[in-house]
Amino acid sequence: MPELKINLKVTNRCMGRCPGCDARISWYRAKPKEFEGSSDLDLDLAKRIISEASESGFKKIVLSGGEPTSYPYLLDIVRFAKAHNFIVKLNTNGWSLPNLIDDLHHAGLDSIALSLYSLDRSTYFLLRGHYGMFARALKAVDSLSVHRKIYPDTFSAILQTIITKVNFRDLPRLLKLAIENKFSAFATSYLEDAYRHPEIQMSTQDIHAFHEDVIPELLSIMDSYPLTPSARQRNMKTLQSYFSPEINTIKNWAQGIYRPLGQSDCGQPGNFLLMYPGGAAAPCYGFEYTHVKDLMDTTLDKAIGDVINGGKFRAFTKTSFDFCHYCPIGFHLWLDLSQ
Ligand code: SF4
Repeated sequence: MPELKINLKVTNRCMGRCPGCDARISWYRAKPKEFEGSSDLDLDLAKRIISEASESGFKKIVLSGGEPTSYPYLLDIVRFAKAHNFIVKLNTNGWSLPNLIDDLHHAGLDSIALSLYSLDRSTYFLLRGHYGMFARALKAVDSLSVHRKIYPDTFSAILQTIITKVNFRDLPRLLKLAIENKFSAFATSYLEDAYRHPEIQMSTQDIHAFHEDVIPELLSIMDSYPLTPSARQRNMKTLQSYFSPEINTIKNWAQGIYRPLGQSDCGQPGNFLLMYPGGAAAPCYGFEYTHVKDLMDTTLDKAIGDVINGGKFRAFTKTSFDFCHYCPIGFHLWLDLSQ
């Protein structure tokens, strides 16, 4: 049976203005009924969600946002979730991470995914819309590196990036940074909502350049990195699968089309809950971009078990959701760097 996972958006607030996130930002800012009340998740509501999710068999929690390190009760939630035997992961842009690292470690956090989109300040600005975030993200890399040297048994650390027209040539430097700072993994995501962002979406020309210039460099870095033969082989295979014509046509990759129309083979609906600070719940990430409210539910007057097994979510699993065509969930790539 697949593991049940919950993504708890503890806050809608974020300092960034990432172009690929504008569908979310505009939705949160419009303050629809689903997000009434505070932009931050109420601590009592968070505890109820976690307790009920645990009773309903959920095992994993991802804490995200907005930017979760700016949420005042982050440590309380990590402690509470760990007391309920959850595997707890934090997704962050690193904003206040250095101040929280030791406390997150003591609270029992299992992993941190730090997103870093470039090592060039102006490229970073293009993808974040905020100058100050670059220095903060680099400081977070340093803090994670130092912390993990002092506490080798602490949480795992994943360096995460997106692949776009403006940063794809930075991938080798980002991979080297992850290796030099002993991250546990390097994760890359294709652009969600890509078809609405031709200014950052990879064109066919970019994809050809990626195949010709970037993949060989990534393979060479990976080839000289000491790993078990099976881990190296897995990573090499992963690298060769970037924008692979065996998975999808180059034309589709370049249009941000990841699946045939009417296909939703990701396994997410029915095994996943996306929770918003106001108590609203969605069955998958596609809602971030489509805002199809009549398929969303709320936990304000319902237990988590009733939401996940309720009519709306069940109906969704049987519904052909057009956004699946543009959704890269299930295609993101992961390089294991643990030696
Ligand atoms: S939009 Fe479709 S493919 Fe993407 S997570 Fe939702 S159901 Fe899965």
